[in-house]
Formats: sequence, structure tokens, C-alpha cells
Amino acid sequence: MPTTLGPVTLQRSDLDLATWLVSGGRPHAPGQPLSHPITPVSTFEHGTDRIYSRSDANEAWDALEAVLGGLEQASALIFSSGMAAISSVFDQLPAGAKVLLPDDCYHGVAHTAQDGAARGRWIFERLAVDDTDAWADRMPDADLIWLESPTNPLLTVADLATLCRLDRKPGSILVVDNTFLTPLRQLPLDLGADVTMQSTTKFIGGHSDLLGGALATRDDALLGRLRRSRTLLGSAPGALEVFLTLRGLRTLAMRVDVAEANARLLAARLGEHPGVATVRYPGVGSMISFDAVDGARAEQACSRVRVIRHATSLGGVESSMERRAATPGQEHLPAGLIRFSVGCEAADDIWADLDQALVP
Ligand SMILES: *Cc1c(COP(=O)(O)O)cnc(C)c1O
Repeated sequence: MPTTLGPVTLQRSDLDLATWLVSGGRPHAPGQPLSHPITPVSTFEHGTDRIYSRSDANEAWDALEAVLGGLEQASALIFSSGMAAISSVFDQLPAGAKVLLPDDCYHGVAHTAQDGAARGRWIFERLAVDDTDAWADRMPDADLIWLESPTNPLLTVADLATLCRLDRKPGSILVVDNTFLTPLRQLPLDLGADVTMQSTTKFIGGHSDLLGGALATRDDALLGRLRRSRTLLGSAPGALEVFLTLRGLRTLAMRVDVAEANARLLAARLGEHPGVATVRYPGVGSMISFDAVDGARAEQACSRVRVIRHATSLGGVESSMERRAATPGQEHLPAGLIRFSVGCEAADDIWADLDQALVP
């Protein structure tokens, strides 16, 4: 007879991150499945704290929050998309608040700031993310400091260690959008950020088959306010998305390792290619932005790729790329700029595809 153990709870602090990703948050008792099932439900029989899915959801949701929170030694909240998570942060702002954001950052954040300012809800200012002195100058009277590093799409790197420790107003919120690097490559909460944000649509999910977002914080009062905002804005994730996100997350460590090794090699080769004017690669992660010699050549390359997919978004196992200036609202970007999300295919196949696409 096998020995039957009672219920087991694994602790993040006892485990390497890679082990936590694979093993954290699973049901762990005799006769239990190894993964939480998909539970399509809106309401629960009265008698416990679990009442309604917009606020309390189900065990798979708790497991995903436990695994994500464990990565950052923090508490995590999951949302229906990255933008839903971002909206709950902006939802915290008092009337007339002052917002700082990078001059290059995710376009949805910039549009949120612009639309709210147009309605008189707040004022905002955009600063170069690598101009630490400018941030030091403006930070003391800002209510929300929104940072992203490396930035999307120009891959500019901020000195987060310094920015997160600058003098700030009490009650202000400093957020780092950590979508491009994930907690495996950068831990902004350890540097002093109040909140980290992830579009789990990207690397965390990893398979381009879902939309999701997450926030993590070590500040319990702020966590409570963000949770309340999620409930009231109605931005809870669906049962299928939670299942898929948790399933994708199990392989995050190996996907990040393979894609990053591919990106290092491809960034070096792109730098030598006659069809490429500039390569922007921060040396970590698997996002590369490079400039084809002009917009027409960039369009041509995007139309010729076969292994790499010509599509927006990023962070999937499959490589994808697009000319960012072709996106409405992104016309200010260099015309030939291609944002390239390096995937987990064999590097030589990705390179052969790129090479044939970039040759005149
Ligand atoms: C995609 C993305 C977002 C928005 O996330 P959605 O899941 O699409 O709502 C925010 N920040 C960055 C850096 C992104 O790449």
C-alpha cells in the first residue's frame, strides 16, 4: 500500500523560483487532481467567504494569485487584462492628481493618461525614462509615478534602483510595468516600488491564447483598495483564462531561458545585417526592436516572414514582429522600427526567416 499523506502546502520561501512555478498553488491531498479544474460559476451556496465570482472567484483564481504573489514575495491580484489592472491603479487617484509617465511606454497607458486629463481628472507629464534627474525633480509632488523598463517599444532602460528610492509624497504610488522582463528577470518591489504590473497576456500566459493582467504589492492597505476597485470595475478574469494562465505559467522559466538565449544570438546577427540600421536590445529578456533601413523595407520584411508571425502582441512561444509606426497613435515612432518578440523556435530557423525577409 502506498503511504497516504495528509494535505501538503508548499512554501515559496523553501523553494527555488523554477520549482515554485512548477509546483506552487496545486491541490495536494489524496485523490485530488494535480491541477485546479475550470470552474465556470458566478455564485456559491451561502456559508463561507466565497459568495460571488466578481469578488471572490474560485480556487484556481486563488492558486494563480498565490503563485504570482510568491514570485515577488508579495500579494497578487489578477484581472481580465493588463489594461484592467492598469485601470484599477488609475482608479486610486484623487481628483486633480499629478501623474508622471515615461515618454515611451505602453500606448494604452499613455491613452489612459491623455483621456483622463482631457476630462479634467488629473494632469500628467511624460519624461524620458533614462533621465533620472528629471524624475528626481518632479517626483516630490507626483501622486502616481508610472514606470516601465525596458520600455515598449524602444527598449530604453531606466535606473529603477535609483528611481524607486527617490523622495516622494506620502501616499503616492510608484508602479513598474514589468511585462517585458517578468519577475524572473527583474523584481521592482525589492528595489522599492509599491506595485508591479504584468500583462499576463504576454510572457506569463506565454501562448497568445488569453488576455489577463496582474498587480503585486507588499502594501496590504493598497492591496485592499485595488481589490475593491477590481470588484467595482468588474474586471475579474474568466474561469478559462485563469486555467490557461496557470497552465502557461508552469513553463515560464524554461520559455524565458530559451527565448532569451535566442534573442542574444539574433540581436548580434541583426547588428551585422546590411538591411538593418539600428538594433535595440537591452541584453536581457527576449524583446528586440530594430530599424529596417526605411518604412517600406520594414513593411516588406513583415510581409515576407513565414516562421515568425506578422502580428501584434508579444511574449508567446512563437516569434512575432510588426512595424510599430503602422499602429494608429504610434506614427511618431521611427518609420522602419520593427518590434520583434523572439520565441522558442530553433534560433537558426528564426534567423533564416529574418535574413530572407530583410534581403532587398
Ligand atoms: C500588452 C501590454 C500591456 C497591456 O496588456 P493587455 O493584456 O493587452 O491589456 C501593458 N503593458 C505592456 C508593456 C504590454 O506589453
